[in-house]
Amino acid sequence: MTTPDRRGTRIAHIGVAVRALDDVLPFYRDVLGLPESPLDDADGARIAGLAAGDSLVELLEPAAADSPIARFVGKKGPGIHHVCFCVEDLDGTLARAKAAGIVLIDEVPRIGAEGKRIAFLHPKSTGGVLIELSEY
Ligand code: ZN
Repeated sequence: MTTPDRRGTRIAHIGVAVRALDDVLPFYRDVLGLPESPLDDADGARIAGLAAGDSLVELLEPAAADSPIARFVGKKGPGIHHVCFCVEDLDGTLARAKAAGIVLIDEVPRIGAEGKRIAFLHPKSTGGVLIELSEY
């Protein structure tokens, strides 16, 4: 088996908003068989990471009633919250997005749950999907 080519943009993780980790974790872990990958909590969410090949499923449980995930679940119910793409050049990608008229939620990258620099793009300019960009 060859080593997968990790260069270029790929899906880093899919963020799934849940009401409670215990409701959904057994499905991904025990039924689908995805190994758990410990992650720090971030943005007012408790996060469970599950490895699916080179990508992760991140289950996001609200840790506070006024957190972004709590607001999302309250408005839309549980479901896919965001898709994170890993890019080689985060600053360059953000600059291209801005030049293309994409609305940036984070004008300047910040540190995300995996300790990497991240930035979010607004769903109103990305076809309705909240997009996270993460640096390698
Ligand atoms: Zn994320």
